[in-house]
Amino acid sequence: PASLFAAVEMAPRDPILGITEAFVADKNPDKINLGVGVYYDDNGKVPLLECVRKAEAQLMEKLAPRSYLPIDGLAAYDKAVQELVFGANSPVIQEKRAITVQALGGTGGLKLGADFIKRVTPNAQVWISDPSWENHRALFEAAGFQVNNYPYYDPATRGVNFDGMLNALKTMPAGSVVVLHACCHNPTGADLSDAQWDEVIRVVGERGLVPFLDMAYQGFGDGIEQDGGVVHRFAATGGAMFVSNSFSKSFSLYGERVGALSIVAVSADEAARVLSQLKRVIRTNYSNPPIHGGQVVATVLSTPELRQTWENELAGMRDRIREMRRKLVDLLKQKAPGQDFEFVIQQRGMFSYSGLTKAQVDRLRNEFSIYAVDTGRICVAALNSKNIERVADAIAQVL
Ligand code: PLP
Repeated sequence: PASLFAAVEMAPRDPILGITEAFVADKNPDKINLGVGVYYDDNGKVPLLECVRKAEAQLMEKLAPRSYLPIDGLAAYDKAVQELVFGANSPVIQEKRAITVQALGGTGGLKLGADFIKRVTPNAQVWISDPSWENHRALFEAAGFQVNNYPYYDPATRGVNFDGMLNALKTMPAGSVVVLHACCHNPTGADLSDAQWDEVIRVVGERGLVPFLDMAYQGFGDGIEQDGGVVHRFAATGGAMFVSNSFSKSFSLYGERVGALSIVAVSADEAARVLSQLKRVIRTNYSNPPIHGGQVVATVLSTPELRQTWENELAGMRDRIREMRRKLVDLLKQKAPGQDFEFVIQQRGMFSYSGLTKAQVDRLRNEFSIYAVDTGRICVAALNSKNIERVADAIAQVL
C-alpha cells in the first residue's frame, strides 16, 4: 500500500541554521560564526548570568512539587513582566486594561497573539517590515493570515526608508495588523528615531491600525527603560495593542523558552473578556506553560538585589556590543581606508546589516571560514577581542 507520507516533500532548510551546520562541519580551527542570533561573551560563549545562577540556587533550596501552572502562567511572572514592559506606574496597569500571559519565548507570544487575532478579526491582513525577522512571515501565515511587507530598510542610506514606511501605513485598511520591532530591529539594526515613532504612533491611531510590537531585545539598545519607551508611548494612546516580549537574549535563557504576550484593551471589562478567550487559545495549544524559566525570571525581577545584578549584567552585554561596533569601525578605517562604516555605530542591538554583498559573504566563508548571512547580516555579539582583528582583515580583503 502507498505510504501516507509518499507525497511529503522535503522542506527548505532554515537559512540561518544552515549556516551553523556548515560552520560546524568546517575544519578550520580559526573559523568564526557571525551568522548566529545569540549573544556571546568575550570568550565566545553563551553566558550563564549571575542573576540566573543565584535565582536558581534560591529555588533549589526550597524545591517544590511540580503541579500545573495556571493556563496564563505564573502570576508573579505575569505581574513582573507587565511592569517591565509597560512601566510600573503605567495607567494601563492601574486601570486594569492590560493583560499579560506567560508564553514560550517571544515566538510563543507572537503565535498566541496571531491565533487570538485570527479569532477576533479573521479577515485582517498583517504587515511586517521589509526585511524582518525571518519567522514573522511564516508564523503569521501559519496562523492563517495574508502577510504583506511595508518598506523599511533603505540600502542607500543604510537607515530606515521612513517616507516609504509612513506612506505604506497611510494606505493600509483600518484594522490591519502592523508588526513593529520595538527596538534593535532584526535583521538590520536600523531603528526609528523618537520623532519618527511619534509619526508612526499618530498614523497608526488615525487609521485605526492594530500595532503588534515585537520586543525581543529590550535592554540591548539604549537601556531597559529607553527601549521600552515605544511600548509606553503606544500604551498612552488609549488604543488596543499587542506586545510580545522575550527573555531569551536579555536573560540568556534561550532554551528555557521564556517570553510573554501582553494585550491592552480599551476597558477593564474588555481586558477580562480578552484574557478569557486568550486562555482558550493557550489551553488548546499546550494547556499551560512550563515552570522553571518563568520562576527564574520572576525571582530576579522581583528581588531588588537580583534585579540590580541583572540590570548590570544586561548593561554589560549592551556595552560590549557597542564596544565591538566601535572597534570594528576603527579597524576597518585602518584596513579599508576610504570605505565608510560609521553606520555600524548608529545601528542598535545584536545585528548589523553590514552592506556586504552575497558574493562578499561567499568569499568570507570560502576563503576565511567566516560565516555571515547571505543578506550581509552579521551578529555583532559574536565578535570578541580575540576574533575581531581577523574579521576586520577578512572584510577589508573581500571589499
Ligand atoms: N522576534 C524577533 C525580532 C527575534 O529576533 C526573535 C529571536 O531571534 C524572536 C522574536 C523570538 O524570540 P524567542 O527565541 O524568545 O522565541
